[in-house]
Amino acid sequence: MNENEIRYSVIIPMYNEEEVIEETYRRLKSVMSRTGETYELLFVNDGSRDRCADIVRQYGEWDESVKLIDFSRNFGHQIAITAGMDYASGDAVIIIDADLQDPPELILSMIELWKDGFEVVYAKRVKRNGETRFKKWSASLFYRVLRASTDVAIPVDTGDFRLMDRKVCDQMKRLPENNRFVRGLVSWVGFRQTAVEYERDERLAGETKYPLKRMIKLCLDGIMSFSYKPLKLAGYAGALLSGAGFLYLLYVLYLALFTDATNKGWPSLIAIMLIFNGFVLLMLGIMGEYIGRIYDETKGRPLYIVRNFTGGAPGAMKE
Ligand code: UDP
Ligand code: MG
Repeated sequence: MNENEIRYSVIIPMYNEEEVIEETYRRLKSVMSRTGETYELLFVNDGSRDRCADIVRQYGEWDESVKLIDFSRNFGHQIAITAGMDYASGDAVIIIDADLQDPPELILSMIELWKDGFEVVYAKRVKRNGETRFKKWSASLFYRVLRASTDVAIPVDTGDFRLMDRKVCDQMKRLPENNRFVRGLVSWVGFRQTAVEYERDERLAGETKYPLKRMIKLCLDGIMSFSYKPLKLAGYAGALLSGAGFLYLLYVLYLALFTDATNKGWPSLIAIMLIFNGFVLLMLGIMGEYIGRIYDETKGRPLYIVRNFTGGAPGAMKE
């Protein structure tokens, strides 16, 4: 047990969630009080433009378990949960979405498994209710591409809803990378991990804060932070194409030497040119994604900026 004796830290990232935050608070309170142990509710306001931070600040006035990390602008979901981990001081740290798509009641099962000795308990979605067919399909495809392209075993159909032991959280704080894919990093640090299964519900209210553009960004972060395979694509494709070209050359030589056939090539030439140039540009784009990420690292900017922190002294806080 640590000095300030907080047993559980619950991290709740929120971005324009005023419609759901009251219900989320109520549900979390009732679940956490059932543990009979100490806890803190660490809300991270990721630059919301609505009243959700004010609502949380009000709760904080009479409920000392409520703490608020208020960002200076929107830094993104993955950064928000990173900040939560930096400020959390519990022996176990739980990450949960603010929109009640992740049922808070599941935290109790996570805690049980944690007490059995598991250091990471992640929540695996066996079913998604009320999400669009496109979201389900794209999410399923993403997790499978990720599994195929990375060497770290990142569990499929698993979001950021999870419990982590203090040891895991401390190790996570040593990973300073910018374009973060938190669930991948948690797999990377290792430790004894296990899953609890659940059905993912519909958002209580409001709409998703992950439009397609952000989903693609998260997907690229996931793949590129854990794999060089996209970079190797050029090598493989190059070998394949030059092999094919060589065979074709033999065929053309054969035609020229042993037959009277003439080769009409203009349309096929154009097609091949477009395909090849397109492929070269695609590879440049992929390299650009990696180079941009290297550039982000060299700048050494902090991951986030906190306007203010409400709720007493932050726990084991990063510099
Ligand atoms: N979120 C955030 N910053 C962002 C986008 C989202 O803190 O820039 C929070 C959001 O408030 C929610 C969680 O991240 O608590 C998950 O977002 P959302 O529910 O919109 O994603 P989805 O469940 O649709 O994938
Ligand atoms: Mg959601």
